[in-house]
Amino acid sequence: MRCKNCGYYFSYKEKLKLTWGLTFNNEVQCPDCGKTHYLSQKSLAMSYLILLLMEVVLILGINLFDIGIEGLFAGLIIATLLLFFLFPFTMKIVEQPDGLLERQFREMENKKLKGK
Ligand SMILES: [Zn+2]
Repeated sequence: MRCKNCGYYFSYKEKLKLTWGLTFNNEVQCPDCGKTHYLSQKSLAMSYLILLLMEVVLILGINLFDIGIEGLFAGLIIATLLLFFLFPFTMKIVEQPDGLLERQFREMENKKLKGK
């Protein structure tokens, strides 16, 4: 993951820090030039999907192997931790928020500007 403005390369440690200290609006600031980027909603959605899949596998595992509720919780904790450490690899930053709501809002704004 690189800064779109100055080309600064985010290290694994920095990305991990971002994962834990993410702001509500998914803003990411470049440590080098200070430009604000946004965490890609698409890459976030992908990570949540992986987590969901892991949970489904765990729940199936309980029924198949009778690991019990303690096994489920242990598995969930491991899956969540695993995702946190894998998350920096799937993480992407974009210059504009790429969430569906933000995109629709921008399109509305564009139409308004063209109408003038
Ligand atoms: Zn930068």
